[in-house]
Amino acid sequence: MNIKDLQRENIKTLKPYSTARDEFKGQASVFLDANENSYGSPLPANYNRYPDPLQLDLKDAISKIKGVPIENTFLGNGSDEAIDLLFRAFCNPGKDNVIILPPTYGMYEVSANINDIELRKVDLLPNFQLDLEKIAEAIDANTKMIFICSPNNPTGNSINRTDIETILANFKGLVVIDEAYINFAKQKTFIQELIEYANLVILQTFSKAWGLAALRLGMAFSSVPVIDILNKVKPPYNINQATQDLALAALSNIQQVNEWIKSTVTERARLTAELEKISIVKKVYPSDANFILVAVTDALNIYNALVNEGIIVRDRSKVSLCEGCLRITIGTIDENNQLLTVLAKI
Ligand SMILES: *Cc1c(COP(=O)(O)O)cnc(C)c1O
Repeated sequence: MNIKDLQRENIKTLKPYSTARDEFKGQASVFLDANENSYGSPLPANYNRYPDPLQLDLKDAISKIKGVPIENTFLGNGSDEAIDLLFRAFCNPGKDNVIILPPTYGMYEVSANINDIELRKVDLLPNFQLDLEKIAEAIDANTKMIFICSPNNPTGNSINRTDIETILANFKGLVVIDEAYINFAKQKTFIQELIEYANLVILQTFSKAWGLAALRLGMAFSSVPVIDILNKVKPPYNINQATQDLALAALSNIQQVNEWIKSTVTERARLTAELEKISIVKKVYPSDANFILVAVTDALNIYNALVNEGIIVRDRSKVSLCEGCLRITIGTIDENNQLLTVLAKI
């Protein structure tokens, strides 16, 4: 498979924007090339210089934790930016299509619609696993990407590894595995499979386990040709300097993050067990994520009763295959106790 052939026609010949920092990379002490404010910033820290377009220091620190070389790493302004760039780089509007597997994360569909790309939906099976037969039927010569969210949002389960491997081994477009919740899962990441499959793209994020949703920082890991194409299409300075500095500082505090992951997984088990004792709860789906999908007797009324007590969950009751369900993020021990107390009283 030649990844370069998968590119959208206009991207094949695109000449990317060349920044001042791209054009001069040597050592210097006087920078009069980028029309910045040479005097400084009206802040304690200096933000007057444009940031590194390729975020090499940050990628180096990420590489040490993830074991993925820098040249296989792309950073986006949230993984949502990586999703959008994949559409813009690889899909021809009015010609190509992508496959998504509902119920799943909403941004794949929104990005497809923004980019005017045909969306083919193949519902998950009732056990929230892949319908391989229907996926095979949906693929044609213009299918550029398949989005697999594992652990899946909003259902919380991991997708069977062998099913994903079947798609990887047979599909001729990009297989995008969204691992936003991988830190909470028993199943291991597909990062080890990057060497084997040039068409594999793995999305991870600093927004969930890392506790940095406000910074907007997402990762995409893939083969060098895919990463090069994403870098060619991205806005030149897509990760701001404050985010680069703060994420770098956060990466040296991985111990705290690992403690929170442990607490979240412990609370997930406790919350599941406690919810199962409550009469209005019909079913708690097993979760590999930091949320649980809960089928209740009357989703809308229970949602509103929680709102009245100042507790907000996500109403997924109108989503196909999630009928009557609420999606509940695992909170702190105290927050989970408040939730349980209110639910027990309804
Ligand atoms: C939360 C979430 C993301 C994260 O998106 P960011 O833009 O990195 O904040 C990505 N994928 C899924 C499935 C999510 O639920």
